[in-house]
Amino acid sequence: MNILVLNSGSSSLKFQIIATDMERIRGNADERLLRGEVQKIGGEASVTVQKSDGLKEKVTASLKDVPAALDFVIRWIASNNLGLKQISSVADIHAVGHRVVHGGEHFTESAIITNEVLKEIERCVELAPLHNPNSIKGILAAREVFGPKTPQVAVFDTAFHHALPEQSYLYAIPYDLYLRYRIRRYGFHGTSYRYVAHRYRLLRNLTRPQTNIVALHLGNGCSAAAIRGGYSFDTSMGMTPLEGLVMGTRSGDVDPAILSFIAAKEGLSLDEVETLLNNQSGLLGISGLTNDMRVLQGELTEHDNPRARLAIEIFCHRARKYIGAFLAVMGGADAIVFTGGIGENSSAIRARICEGFEWAGLSLDDDKNKNAVGHEAVISREDSRLAAYVIPTDEELLIARDTVRCILGEPHPT
Ligand code: AMP
Repeated sequence: MNILVLNSGSSSLKFQIIATDMERIRGNADERLLRGEVQKIGGEASVTVQKSDGLKEKVTASLKDVPAALDFVIRWIASNNLGLKQISSVADIHAVGHRVVHGGEHFTESAIITNEVLKEIERCVELAPLHNPNSIKGILAAREVFGPKTPQVAVFDTAFHHALPEQSYLYAIPYDLYLRYRIRRYGFHGTSYRYVAHRYRLLRNLTRPQTNIVALHLGNGCSAAAIRGGYSFDTSMGMTPLEGLVMGTRSGDVDPAILSFIAAKEGLSLDEVETLLNNQSGLLGISGLTNDMRVLQGELTEHDNPRARLAIEIFCHRARKYIGAFLAVMGGADAIVFTGGIGENSSAIRARICEGFEWAGLSLDDDKNKNAVGHEAVISREDSRLAAYVIPTDEELLIARDTVRCILGEPHPT
């Protein structure tokens, strides 16, 4: 089956087409036919695609909304220009898998999108006002382009964390507020964690119950997850993806009393302070320069920029703090797993984060760490009691596989 995987943003649309079915899933033989992105939807948009042979194509087009963008992309892919023999018409896309950020308490696994499911996703909008409306737009656009007969599946970032125990997911606020408004920790990056935990056990030849790791997804958004016995036991992001680690533009943990303090001092509404914590904080806020870790590292090595140094130091300190906390609540783990753009590519950040974990039995192998850029690798020494791994994430692959499993009614790991 050719599965279109969609990740809809506010003015962007990321997509991949992956050929997969149960036989390919079992044999790990899924085939990525193409990946691409539309940016600046709503005006003169740019559309880029990259085929599996590495060939890149870019065009610009005036695309007023997400349905127009999706329609354009599909027709372009199906045209002969791209030379993609598997897709010669819209009908060659057999199903669509969507990344949906928030599934609330309702969705503990991926789901075929029916009208009822769509209503539930809409109900989750108040929990993720920045993210879920975009997913809904993507789903409606796909219905318009492919028609009601093409199955669509929603894969939720929150679903993997449905196993969180109460002591991890409840905040210490009046219990009644949880009952009335479902205010609790949901956790995010769940598809990424499911993928890396799965790869980890394949690499080590372990079963799911033998999977005890602290995983760090360090990208533009950053989070940590304590995965105990193969299930999410605790995680750093909360009711929204703002809590926890320092991120590109998000503050992560702050004293909640700071919100009204900033509001009073700066004459801002609470909504505006929340926007400040989401969009102007984190690496960008501390450095005053950029949210891009690569640029910050360049500033540090080339210009010894003190604010870049500070941003990186606070970023790593917070990550270390979460690893330590998660090791404590899990009663120890077998490995630390790094993923996401920073986790997969920056050996310097990994080394800084792992510094001082000798007490937990971790000793990094400097050469292995330096050589591990963008591919799976063990980066700890052979005699390290606590191992460390780099495992590049592949959320799109898992979304494509879940789409197939949902359509065929096959059980799938949650
Ligand atoms: P993601 O959201 O997973 O695409 O990750 C984006 C983040 O990864 C950005 O902060 C990038 O600067 C960072 N990143 C990507 N490659 C590198 C690299 N080689 N060194 C440091 N950071 C990187």
